[in-house]
Parts: sequence; structure tokens; C-alpha cells
Amino acid sequence: MSLSAKQPKPKTCKNPACRSSFIPRRLGQAVCSPKCALATVEVQKAKEKKSLAQAGRREIKVRKEALKTRADHAKEAQTVMNRYVRLRDAHLGCISCNKPATWGGQWHCSHFRSVGAAPHIRYNLWNMNRACSVCNNHLSGNIAGYRPKLIEKIGQNKVDWLESNHSVARHDIPYLKRIKAVFTKKCRRLEARIQCNAA
Ligand SMILES: [Zn+2]
Ligand SMILES: [Zn+2]
Repeated sequence: MSLSAKQPKPKTCKNPACRSSFIPRRLGQAVCSPKCALATVEVQKAKEKKSLAQAGRREIKVRKEALKTRADHAKEAQTVMNRYVRLRDAHLGCISCNKPATWGGQWHCSHFRSVGAAPHIRYNLWNMNRACSVCNNHLSGNIAGYRPKLIEKIGQNKVDWLESNHSVARHDIPYLKRIKAVFTKKCRRLEARIQCNAA
């Protein structure tokens, strides 16, 4: 065996801030100096602290989710669906008056039959249409204007179905969670498409 073969090969110091080449003096030596050893310990400690904090945040999120009531989930599902309807109808004017799609004010999602009066169809997409904030807030949906325009939009049969539907639907938590997940995705897709069209 030649002499050079016995010489340990140079290694690169594991301290990210150093990375210098060194000849190890003992087996498994990963850093060039005690100073770099200390530095890597600090880096490791910081990493552990960070992952602990992340686990803590995850835990809090899980607990918060578990504490949510059915009403909380219902509200969240409604928020997401309302957003979806505003995006879906972005190219349309107000369902209840003659404001055009280009109107610069606030847009809402307006229920043809209100959430209070017909909670079983509060997530029905025929029942939900984009309206200007004036109609939705101040004219209680401006139903006199809403009805003929809804018939024009979805047809008499569907409007009849909405008006004659008196079933009782219980939206349980898994259903509400599914709505939220599905429509969050649909919103993202529509937003991307709208941005594409605008570009
Ligand atoms: Zn080093
Ligand atoms: Zn309006």
C-alpha cells in the first residue's frame, strides 16, 4: 500500500457558512474546526425550534377547526360560494337592475329566495346570482327586478322549481366542508381564467 493511500482525503466543512476544504483528523469529522462545530449546533437548534413552532401552529389550527360549530362551517361555505357566484357572473350585469358588468361599485351575491326564508336552497347555484350592492343591501334584493331577469337567465322551469321547493335540507358539517373545498378550487380556476382573459 502506498503512502498516499493512507492519507485521509480532504472533506468539505459541513458548516454552511464555511464550506472550506479540510483534512479530517478523526473518523466522522464533519467540520473543520471547533468554531464550525459550534456554528452547526446553533443552526441545528434553530431548525428544531422552527419545526417545533410549525408543529405548534398546526396543532392550533387543528384545534380551532375542531371547535367550529355547524353554523361556523355554514357561514364559511356561504362565503366561498358567494365569491364563486360573483366570479361566475363577472361578465354579467346586476340580476335585479340594469347596472352593467362594468359598473364600478361593490358587487354582492344575491339570493333569489333569501337565506332566512329558504335556508334549504342557500347553496343552490340557480338561487344565487351576482347583484349590485344597491339592490342587495337597500332594496332587499330588488325582487321585482330579479324575477324576470332570472327567468331570462335560467328559464321559467328552474325559477318555478326554486319557488315551489319547500323541502327541508340539513347541511351537515361534512357536506359544508366539501362545499368549501370544492368551491375554493372552482374560485381559483375562475380567477385564473379571468386573469388570462384580461391579459
Ligand atoms: Zn469550517
Ligand atoms: Zn342592481
